Amino acid sequence: MIKVAINGYGTIGKRVADAVAAQPDMEVIGVSKTKPSAEAFVANQRGYPLYIAEINRKPLFDEAGIEVAGDVTEMIKQADVVVDATPGGIGVKNKKLYELHGVKAIWQGGEDHEVAGFSFCSSCNFEEAKGRQFTRVVSCNTTGLCRIIHAVDEAFGVKRVRATMVRRGSDPGEVKKGPVDAIVLNPVEIPSHHGPDVQSVLPEIDITTMAMIVPTTFMHMHAIQMDLEKEATKEEIIEIIEAHPRMGLVRGATGIKSTAELKEFAQDMGRQRADLYENCIFADSVGFVGNELFLFQAIHQEADVVVENVDAIRAMMNGAADAATSIQMTNEALGFHA
Ligand code: NAD
Repeated sequence: MIKVAINGYGTIGKRVADAVAAQPDMEVIGVSKTKPSAEAFVANQRGYPLYIAEINRKPLFDEAGIEVAGDVTEMIKQADVVVDATPGGIGVKNKKLYELHGVKAIWQGGEDHEVAGFSFCSSCNFEEAKGRQFTRVVSCNTTGLCRIIHAVDEAFGVKRVRATMVRRGSDPGEVKKGPVDAIVLNPVEIPSHHGPDVQSVLPEIDITTMAMIVPTTFMHMHAIQMDLEKEATKEEIIEIIEAHPRMGLVRGATGIKSTAELKEFAQDMGRQRADLYENCIFADSVGFVGNELFLFQAIHQEADVVVENVDAIRAMMNGAADAATSIQMTNEALGFHA
């Protein structure tokens, strides 16, 4: 069993913990928090040993009736791999600790590529992650872009990508973030950081991106255009999407035309936390003008990177022969088929 510690039990960390616990070849040896919170109670309730960043805060946890197993260093010492899901900018500060204890570590998209020197998306570069000490799983938007661009590139060659990201303002539980009533250009400058971030996984791809933030909490929406090298049809693109284990087709017959309806669908399907791990690509949006492919895809920001973290663990621990094997194991353990 691969021993996994999750440093930072928040939006991403709590999902990674549950996804790891569901795998037949992995176990959660601990999760961490900085202060007592609802999530800390949940960690106790789920039976994950809870470690804390500063042990002198233990009395606060004791007072709240939350059981503490020790400090973060004790957790790291027992782990084969640490998934660092602390807020962006904090994770990089933990690198020294991981180096000191010779433990493997995975960071998230809130950190720069340089933190690990290698950026990961399982359907694009699983092989390169094998045996590595450090890896960074790219952000939710970058993961969604990499999956579709790489799949289309392999089949038809992608000459150029133009993509506009309409991003959610905050995660559902973040009551102090916005915007509440605005469309915010973020950034105003073009290109946004998403294009270069895709190139950290797919260096050969010519991509330019723009982004804005809107008042919604569930999912981003991407409007994507790709110039293809070879001629392709809508049906061929749809076949690629249907065959991909991390992409799902939103069929016209469902009547779904929004992120709100996707959430309802995820809940009705019984997905834990209404999580959508796959790119949700609208079948009726897939179309061509000459060799230029157009499509809309919705990306569940809290979920798509979770399964990528599980595959990254397996790759770094040499726990699966190839990407397809790991992706299938991860998906099956979570009971989802894209
Ligand atoms: P979050 O704020 O929801 O959770 C972070 C957790 O880390 C919190 O539980 C906090 O208590 C804990 N923490 C803070 N400082 C700590 C420390 N020093 N030691 C241990 N724990 C500490 O953040 P999040 O949204 O889960 O983001 C985590 C990372 O994932 C970031 O890099 C972010 O950019 C990336 N990411 C987030 C999303 C998303 O939609 N939320 C999507 C993809 C990637």
